[in-house]
Amino acid sequence: MDFKLTKPQLLQQELFRKFAETEIKPIAKDMDEAEEYSLDLVAKLQKAGMFGIPYSREYGGQGADVLTYTLAMEEVSKVDASTGITMSVHTSLCCSCIDQFGSEEQKHTHMRPLIDGTAIGCYGLTEPGAGTDAGGCQTVAVLDGDNYIINGSKVFTTNSGFADTCIVFALTDKSKGLRGLSAFIVDLHSEGVTVSANIERMGIRAASNCEVIYENVSVPVANLIGKEGMGFKIAMVALDGGRIGIGAQSVGIAQGAIDEALKYVKERKQFGKTINKFQNTQFKLAECQTKVDAARLMVWRAAVAKDNHEAYSKEAAMCKLFGSEVANEVTRVCVQLLGGYGYCREYPVERAMRDAKITEIYEGTSEAMKMVISGAMKV
Ligand SMILES: Cc1cc2nc3c(=O)[nH]c(=O)nc-3n(C[C@H](O)[C@H](O)[C@H](O)COP(=O)(O)OP(=O)(O)OC[C@H]3O[C@@H](n4cnc5c(N)ncnc54)[C@H](O)[C@@H]3O)c2cc1C
Repeated sequence: MDFKLTKPQLLQQELFRKFAETEIKPIAKDMDEAEEYSLDLVAKLQKAGMFGIPYSREYGGQGADVLTYTLAMEEVSKVDASTGITMSVHTSLCCSCIDQFGSEEQKHTHMRPLIDGTAIGCYGLTEPGAGTDAGGCQTVAVLDGDNYIINGSKVFTTNSGFADTCIVFALTDKSKGLRGLSAFIVDLHSEGVTVSANIERMGIRAASNCEVIYENVSVPVANLIGKEGMGFKIAMVALDGGRIGIGAQSVGIAQGAIDEALKYVKERKQFGKTINKFQNTQFKLAECQTKVDAARLMVWRAAVAKDNHEAYSKEAAMCKLFGSEVANEVTRVCVQLLGGYGYCREYPVERAMRDAKITEIYEGTSEAMKMVISGAMKV
């Protein structure tokens, strides 16, 4: 067993870190305040190949492994969790559905633009009445000649405010419940698609999360992924992979907060000395770093299992469950270490603490993760 990154992985990590520091960090606070993602930054991320890291060069991707993708997720989330989720939904949810289940034609027509940097993707499973229980899905797709006609509404579709392509899950046979769910590649510029304003949120405020209404949206039969009835499987496999990314995002949020706190405690003086001289400060940071390192190793374990084509569903759920708890605990401790200043918007730990909360909710709540883990344990 080797816990070290390879030379190419270390090089890539350094590139991701530089990109995050120079292109994302300087505007992260402003994007959060504006509650809007910068389209200039989207273009820079595309140009830098950040939206196609684990995908084949044949389709314009970087051809890197999943572990390298988690390094990117950690580095960008260290400075801005909104960028983390923008990348994650595009990469691990949208593209992976086509990569893992799409036909060769779909990969060339729809996945290539997503990973070579010409289009942005999103993933629409959640509906107002169907969250953890995807079986409550009401969106329908009815076959009409060479097209399916989609009607329904999806909520919290990340990236939908500026995305081009969405993987939409809709019932092709209502009588079959989850086994009647199918997955479609939908052009979001199609007639009948209405995207709401960004939903106001506690954290990851710069990310785009909208309600998307589909009213008689015509989608060619050629855009059905796999076969009718495969939608639930496609959705769950994509989420398994996505959870590794959210584990990495959690690690990034927590590590970013530790890095900021470390700087601060070496400068702030109370009782005639810098506060890093207090044993409480030292022990709190030691505990935080230990937990973040443990979470990172769990993310890497899940990523390596996926890279090796081994089963990784339980490991992915575990790294998301643990990583998200660590992100919440660590950011709260870091705010405390900065005292009143930690509570102020001027310091990034305030944003990190707000951003951390969502990691316990999206791509499956912590309770859903425990269902996956206990199911795999055959409890
Ligand atoms: C910012 C943001 C971005 C998102 N991005 C996307 C996206 O891009 N695409 C997409 O499809 N979805 C997205 N989601 C949706 C997200 O995945 C759901 O919010 C999440 O799965 C929970 O569903 P829900 O909100 O309907 O909560 P509910 O399912 O109503 O759950 C409410 C509470 O009940 C608990 N609960 C539910 N069922 C059980 C059970 N059987 N046992 C124990 N406890 C249970 C939950 O854990 C939770 O605590 C996003 C959500 C947010 C907030």
